[in-house]
Amino acid sequence: MTKIEEFQALGLTEVTLEAIREKGFEEPSPIQKLTIPTFLKDENDIIAQAQTGTGKTAAFGLPILERITARKGQKPQALILVPTRELALQVMEELISLNRKKIAVSAIYGGASMSEQLRRIAKGIDIVVGTPGRVLDHIRRGTIDFSELRWLVLDEADEMLDMGFIEDMEEIMAATNDTKRTMLFSATMPARISSLSKKYMHDTEILRVESKQMTADLTDQIYFEVRESDKFDALTRIIDIEPDFYGIVFARTKVGVDEIVNRLLERGYAAEGLHGDVSQAQREKTLRKFKKKQVNILVATDVAARGIDVNNLTHVINYSLPQDSESYVHRIGRTGRAGNEGTAITFISPSEYRQFTAMRKAVKSDIRKQQLPSAEDVIAIRRQKIKDELQAVVTGEQLVDNYHSMASEILAEYDPAVALAALLKMAFKNDLEQDNYPEIRSFSVDRKGTARLFIAVGRFDGFTPGKLVEMLKRETGLYDKKIDDVRVMDSFSFVTVPFKDAEMVTKKLNRLSRGDKPLAEISTDGNAPAGEDKRNERRGRNHTRSERRMPERERRGPLRNFESKSKRDSRKRK
Ligand code: ADP
Ligand code: MG
Repeated sequence: MTKIEEFQALGLTEVTLEAIREKGFEEPSPIQKLTIPTFLKDENDIIAQAQTGTGKTAAFGLPILERITARKGQKPQALILVPTRELALQVMEELISLNRKKIAVSAIYGGASMSEQLRRIAKGIDIVVGTPGRVLDHIRRGTIDFSELRWLVLDEADEMLDMGFIEDMEEIMAATNDTKRTMLFSATMPARISSLSKKYMHDTEILRVESKQMTADLTDQIYFEVRESDKFDALTRIIDIEPDFYGIVFARTKVGVDEIVNRLLERGYAAEGLHGDVSQAQREKTLRKFKKKQVNILVATDVAARGIDVNNLTHVINYSLPQDSESYVHRIGRTGRAGNEGTAITFISPSEYRQFTAMRKAVKSDIRKQQLPSAEDVIAIRRQKIKDELQAVVTGEQLVDNYHSMASEILAEYDPAVALAALLKMAFKNDLEQDNYPEIRSFSVDRKGTARLFIAVGRFDGFTPGKLVEMLKRETGLYDKKIDDVRVMDSFSFVTVPFKDAEMVTKKLNRLSRGDKPLAEISTDGNAPAGEDKRNERRGRNHTRSERRMPERERRGPLRNFESKSKRDSRKRK
């Protein structure tokens, strides 16, 4: 029942299919169905349009990885232009996660150390993912040779145009070989895109997935901002406070489904999972149990949930965002059926925010933001539930005789309150203790919520995530709790801090760097004002110049203490 054959039918072969299996994609998204076969015909240039979050990266990534052979040490075969650093990293990660052929994939963008980039370029890159400014910088300096490109991809083309990269893009297109094929991917199609394509693309095939406007009125729609790592606890809180939770939890991949089910089972919830690898027999069994409410939580992928006709769900939970607004409406439509009102809950992690904003615009109904129930609330409700259940048993006929006599024996020996407390402890362990509810830190990503900071030091400077946090705390006085999503790469890092602190943090950090090269910059996470990244990129180009002038030690300023031992050693050797 797995639909890997659908990927195969698009023209992908075993190595690529293996990567898809491991990644956990169940079936190609609509834009992938359209573009992959056209791409693999090796004939036309392509313009592809589909909403944000519909898998456009894999739509060009899979056929490139299908066709390419590693030839490290020579000229790049593919260049993917993206508007921002963050997107460059995202695209690079998606490609690496699908790479089974040892293809060298690397990201090149402004603000990062030029010398480190030059080292990587010298080693050989097969696929370059880059921002226009920095890529052009390399072209002009002659440090990278794009004369043997097979593919040029303009990803998120509308955003690149919005950010004013048009001239850079044109210059890059003109500077690369004529024999390459050009692919343009975009969520929207402003007129400027067609004039660009007329000038620089040939035999262009336009492929488009229309996004339908749909509404789901009967459903109460809310969302919670919650970190990826807190999603599971958020889910259990929601289930715990519902008197009769009966719902489907949607995950994006098979791996995701299995993980959520296992964790729920571990915690004693009645949950089962459905995804493409579940056999037909098992699927039917699970659905029977779910319909009879022997299992009240069904965890499923979109594909596996298709065709399930259950009407009276209290909840649909989007543990991960759906692929597009259409699947969102399909998912949540399962609660509002037949006049029943239900609640649709969507979890949004910082990295999903960008897609969520786009989706929210396309879904015409209102999705309200809410706060997660606190641990105290959950405990109070669970206590009440236990009392209610007790009452039901006491007044029911189920009070079986053999327990009656056992109760008398126990009461003869212990104080009643002590005995009952001990029994509760046996039944519920420490489930109802505050400590058992890990803190779910709140964050907020509205226009003023959080900011992603780009920090120009990384592993090569001796930093680990722990050390970076330590340095931030020491230098800026931020609390642990406010520093999040720390990612330390070779020569730079990203952290998320509250927006209101971002300016202070960058100011303090930049005071540390004596040169004119800023140590920290506010980066875009899709919410920062447009143009910010363009500016960063421009500044990025400037630092690269100053970088060349300034000896490394000075540039690093007081942070040189963090320089790794290996690096110091290598310098001594020189
Ligand atoms: P876009 O570029 O269209 O905004 P992305 O390429 O960033 O979308 O994809 C969004 C998410 O969807 C990524 O996490 C990606 O791994 C996932 N994805 C892509 N293709 C599929 C698929 N066929 N099935 C499930 N998830 C997919
Ligand atoms: Mg994209």
